[in-house]
Amino acid sequence: MFDSLSDRLSGIFDKLSKRGALSESDVNAALREVRRALIEADVALDVVRSFTEQVKEKAVGVEVIKSVSPAQMVVKLVHDQLVEMLGSEGQVIDLNTPAPVPIMMVGLQGSGKTTSTAKIALRLQTRDKKKVLMASLDTRRPAAQEQLRVLGEQNGIETLPIVEGEGPTQIANRAMNAGRLGGFDVVMLDTAGRIHIDEPLMVEMAEVRKVANPHEILLVADSLTGQDAVNVAKSFDERVGITGIVLTRVDGDGRGGAALSMRAVTGKPIKLLGVGEKADALEEFHPERVAGRILGMGDIVSLVEKAAETIDAEKAALAAEKLRKGKFDLEDLKEQLGQMAKLGGMSGIMGLMPGVGKMKKQMAAANLDDSIVNKQVAIINSMTRQERRNPALLKASRKKRIAAGAGVQVAEVNKLLKMHRQMADMMKKMGKAKGGLGGLFGGG
Ligand code: GDP
Repeated sequence: MFDSLSDRLSGIFDKLSKRGALSESDVNAALREVRRALIEADVALDVVRSFTEQVKEKAVGVEVIKSVSPAQMVVKLVHDQLVEMLGSEGQVIDLNTPAPVPIMMVGLQGSGKTTSTAKIALRLQTRDKKKVLMASLDTRRPAAQEQLRVLGEQNGIETLPIVEGEGPTQIANRAMNAGRLGGFDVVMLDTAGRIHIDEPLMVEMAEVRKVANPHEILLVADSLTGQDAVNVAKSFDERVGITGIVLTRVDGDGRGGAALSMRAVTGKPIKLLGVGEKADALEEFHPERVAGRILGMGDIVSLVEKAAETIDAEKAALAAEKLRKGKFDLEDLKEQLGQMAKLGGMSGIMGLMPGVGKMKKQMAAANLDDSIVNKQVAIINSMTRQERRNPALLKASRKKRIAAGAGVQVAEVNKLLKMHRQMADMMKKMGKAKGGLGGLFGGG
């Protein structure tokens, strides 16, 4: 596998002198790696070019915030720019027009159009409580109409009865009429596909469009076809006009570059992602997640972001000072636990780090989860201020009272005190070796 972008950037920045602001040459060096990462993620070349130019404009001269390394700072800028280019969150299907709302599905054969039609219908029906009618307008492939009918039957979605000999526009007309008469909220029109884009297909799409006047025209595209998918999106948008994109087979695409290219080239939002063959394997599009995937680094950017937000630089400096003096009392421990909770708890932090699946399991086995953190905070809260400052004051009777106050066994109080002693020891050493807590999130 490729090194993650953040690893590569760290390598570059290690060689550079540490400075307060990112210089042009720092940024150029970093962007060379960014360019490579994007190309490896299958992002179209001209999109890569315009993307790196935009990042460069924003990055040169930016002050590196205290709690992150320059490499992390660049990763964050790249990530932010990716998110911006990928478009905003929650671009759901727009049903804001009188019912029945026509939704036209377009795309090449095999892109996952019929499957996605059923997935979206199921979602609208179960989640949004809409009454949905599906109709297949694919009169070329003999089994196509039957395929949609079966999907409808399996998932409890009504389909327009099949009438032999009708053409696509006739079916579209009949579907809209049935939608009106039957009191449907949404009518989904699954159009015919082809192996390649060709003129008759485009003409057919334009005719259907005229008849049905769809409120949404969703292009279904296979993310695994990369550059081809981008060209397909461009053609469909130019000839038919699309309102959004459904990207399929994202479950098999670890790179996510197609999403960025499609969005950049068409300017149309990616609305949903197909992540499997089953009818419920449909996800909303989260630019943050896709950006993280493109950068190949778990979600370290969110960790950097959250750390920067929550860790008050002054507090960290103060704690570091205390550590150097060898003081780390239960107040400090509580503060640390609180900070962790802000970062989304243990599981939140773990979930943000790359490659943590295994570690997470180990932690679960060790019972190190959020409920334990909450318990620990409760125990500390049950102590007096003096006891927190000087845990040596805690005698057996007090421990019993504290345990009762926190709703735990005395053994848990002892466990916490032991953990605190170990941490205090460790941090004392760390405080002497480095800059103390400031280094905890400092990374590179
Ligand atoms: P159409 O010709 O565009 O209508 O394509 P289909 O809907 O018939 O899908 C073609 C194949 O791709 C079928 O075997 C689907 O199960 C599969 N498929 C569709 N969407 C996805 C997806 O998001 N992930 C995976 N893994 N398979 C998918």
